[in-house]
Amino acid sequence: MGHEQPFEYPPWSYSAATVFDSCPRRFYYRHLPTEATTTGTKTGNQSPVFHSLGALIGVVVHECIAQKIDRWRIGESLSYQAAETMTSKKLEEYILANTESLAQIDTKTHEEKAVAEVIERGKSVAHSHLDCFYRIIWPQFTAHQYLLHEAYRSFKIDGSPVAVRPDLCTRDSEENFVVTDWKTSDSDPLSAPSLQQLVYALWAYEEYEPEIERIIVQLVHTKNGEFDCSRFGPEDLVAIRERIQSDRQEWREAETIADYQPCPELAKCSSCPYVTRCHAGQQVLTE
Ligand code: SF4
Repeated sequence: MGHEQPFEYPPWSYSAATVFDSCPRRFYYRHLPTEATTTGTKTGNQSPVFHSLGALIGVVVHECIAQKIDRWRIGESLSYQAAETMTSKKLEEYILANTESLAQIDTKTHEEKAVAEVIERGKSVAHSHLDCFYRIIWPQFTAHQYLLHEAYRSFKIDGSPVAVRPDLCTRDSEENFVVTDWKTSDSDPLSAPSLQQLVYALWAYEEYEPEIERIIVQLVHTKNGEFDCSRFGPEDLVAIRERIQSDRQEWREAETIADYQPCPELAKCSSCPYVTRCHAGQQVLTE
């Protein structure tokens, strides 16, 4: 192999496949074993690194919902007020730790007054998601049976690992196996089941529920309380298996950094954590 640094192919996952589709060079940087800067993930004892306020709000809302479900799992509750306080504290902590990376997209974020404004704006948006979750979304889960949440799981397709990390898995009152993913982004009522929903369905089918008609995968939007539910047929499982096989083939065929071509676009590169080492990305930002 001709890699400049050792490169290990990651297990197939929705996020790895999405990064590869968006920009193979970013995929390369992200999966180098020595890589230490990944958006929204913690590295050692450091705080998570964020390059957009939206991503930061999404992570904080997810963390707060995970705390609520943690309590629910053991028969306890987390009041709305406690959740709101927790969200405010986390947001402030993450924004203060990320003024430098956020300033790459908002040059004023270095100024003290601007930081205070960003914190207030972030709190207001995050609280509205939390309010929607508590008032509209959560009451629809009270009859569900808890199975797992926020857990990495790995299963094999043709002997190679596929990774998933569902936000929540439950059995509903009709014994359906329900995989739920929280979304802070807008819903798209016309979209077909996403790649992410398909891989969750395949995992649920392989590991938990052999009756495919009992599997529901839903994207639940904390902005407006919409549930985007999908059910599946055997043809969906064939399609996602084929997609995983063809992605793996493509990843295996790439041998050097030159095989991972950059796909520079302003929107992508301005929030890319690897832009400082990517000539193509830096060029698009200075044009
Ligand atoms: S800066 Fe742009 S081109 Fe370079 S790796 Fe990131 S997304 Fe790809």
